[in-house]
Amino acid sequence: MRILISNDDGYLAPGINALAEALAPIAEIVVVAPDSNRSGASNSLSLDRPLSVQRAANGFYFVNGTPSDCVHVALTAVLDYKPDLVVSGINNGPNMGDDTLYSGTVAAATEGFLFGIPSIAFSQGAYGWEHIEDAARHARDLVQRFYEELPRPCLWNVNIPNRPYEQLKAVAATRLGRRHQSEPVIRAKDPRGRDIYWIGPPGACKDAGEGTDFHAVANGKTSITPLQIDLTHTSQLSALAKALA
Ligand code: MN
Repeated sequence: MRILISNDDGYLAPGINALAEALAPIAEIVVVAPDSNRSGASNSLSLDRPLSVQRAANGFYFVNGTPSDCVHVALTAVLDYKPDLVVSGINNGPNMGDDTLYSGTVAAATEGFLFGIPSIAFSQGAYGWEHIEDAARHARDLVQRFYEELPRPCLWNVNIPNRPYEQLKAVAATRLGRRHQSEPVIRAKDPRGRDIYWIGPPGACKDAGEGTDFHAVANGKTSITPLQIDLTHTSQLSALAKALA
């Protein structure tokens, strides 16, 4: 098995190092990741400047771009073959519900999916890297358990509770939950007295009921949500088509 690994926290992040180490014994791995933290980059591609690919001492490739750039340049330039699997992460913190739209972790996997490759995004349920090696071992278990039967292509969003490995047995198939609208920006002053704004926290959970990713992780289970990319609103489309008829 040949696996392409990326993330959005950057090639130096503990999460991608743990994931690469965990997967190396079961696959030929190549890491192509952003040179810095690009969390929240979503599916953006850099179209206004060239990208460069450099190689770190540990063999990881790093790119002055977004997670999507990294997978894009890996699949079309760095690798001379199509990998069997693209994995992203392990992210520092959760990517559940509406977070998936903003997530660079999910975006890196989405880029693999758009190139027709089974792709999995891994995130930890809480910030701080606690039990990251346990999460990585658990991620390897999931890859080994499901690799053969993965739909081709597929896009899975996996969130792993921050727990010791022995407590990472339960896995739930979930749908995305929903959040309330985001908290407002945080206003501050720059040193010259001008207003500046920091993007604030995401909204609280709105739909975190049974069956959602939020519910699974809150109950100590690893959440797997199979994603699709078609944003068409089917019922509004029929209504619109009728209105135009
Ligand atoms: Mn991140």
